[in-house]
Amino acid sequence: MKLLLVEDEPRVAEIVRRGLVEEGHLVDVCSGGRAALQQARDIDYDVIVLDWMLPDVDGLEVLRQWRQSGLRTPVLMLTARGQIGERVAGLKVGADDYLVKPFDFAELLARLEALHRRGSGQIELRVAGDVTLDGRRRALVCGESEISLTPREYALCQEFFGHVGDVLSRSHLLTAVWGTNYEGDPNVLDVYIGYVRGKLARIAARQAAIKAVRGVGFRLQVGGD
Ligand code: CA
Repeated sequence: MKLLLVEDEPRVAEIVRRGLVEEGHLVDVCSGGRAALQQARDIDYDVIVLDWMLPDVDGLEVLRQWRQSGLRTPVLMLTARGQIGERVAGLKVGADDYLVKPFDFAELLARLEALHRRGSGQIELRVAGDVTLDGRRRALVCGESEISLTPREYALCQEFFGHVGDVLSRSHLLTAVWGTNYEGDPNVLDVYIGYVRGKLARIAARQAAIKAVRGVGFRLQVGGD
């Protein structure tokens, strides 16, 4: 595994780093939140260990910003705070797991391996222009903005984001989203295309737009193509 460890206490950071390296993992260490924000955007890690209490930007804020920008690397938060409310806050912002300090190294290792297994194989992040379709959160993300999608809207977006620039026929979209046995009103497709367009407009996506192709269907157009 390739890991990022964000921990400001040198002693804890060194113990954890050494332990992980001995297990054969690659470990980068950041001692502050600000550095970590950039580091995780520059390098693709398998799992991130994020301390809550950091001197500059705290862990919760770091995580919030990562998730807002579409980063979905599994994150395990380290916290000295035992209160349930704060653990919930971390999970709400997008932590995948947490461990209360002081912790047992074997426990940390087991949790990280579990996160790695869970994380790989379910990568569901598709990009079109300035918009990301985040499958884990079932949302459209653009810069700092995010808007959640209903299951049908998400299924429709999956088709478009999986075939950027291609014309998708009405029958293809109806089958993909409403199923082969759908016998309802085919105009439901236009209604949902309208919902998705509205959401793209609301997150201020400029580079991605769903265009109608007369007599055929629709395509997700990126930039000026
Ligand atoms: Ca700390």
